[in-house]
This record gives sequence, structure tokens and C-alpha cells, in this order.
Amino acid sequence: MTCEDAHLHMHDYLSGELGAEYRKPLMDHLDACPNCRKFFLQTQQMQTFVRNAMSVAAPSELQSAVQSILANA
Ligand SMILES: [Zn+2]
Repeated sequence: MTCEDAHLHMHDYLSGELGAEYRKPLMDHLDACPNCRKFFLQTQQMQTFVRNAMSVAAPSELQSAVQSILANA
């Protein structure tokens, strides 16, 4: 697996869409490649952050926030 492949696969992995046959090669690559491992951890943290932020904000609050941004644009 190349670094490019690994970057593509890790997004699918984090969103739960990566096929089982790609998981082992991806994990092996992350073990062997510090750059991809670092990128993977950053992406994972970012996703967790976004997910938490989304679950904290009520949809209606989010909607009115977006509307006020658009109104002021
Ligand atoms: Zn790599």
C-alpha cells in the first residue's frame, strides 16, 4: 500500500466504510509509516472533535447560527 492509498483508505476507515480486506493492510502501513500514522491520528482527533461539536449543538441552534451568518454575509 502506498501513502496515497493509505490516506484514501483512512477516511473510509474512520467513517466506517472501509472494506474488511483493506483494514489489515492499512493498519500494517500505519505501523510502518510514521507520517501516515501522524496524519491518521490528526484526522481521527478532528473527526471526534467535529462529532462532539455537532452533538452538543442542537440542530435548531445550528440552523439559526447558519442563518444569521448568511444574513450578515
Ligand atoms: Zn505512508
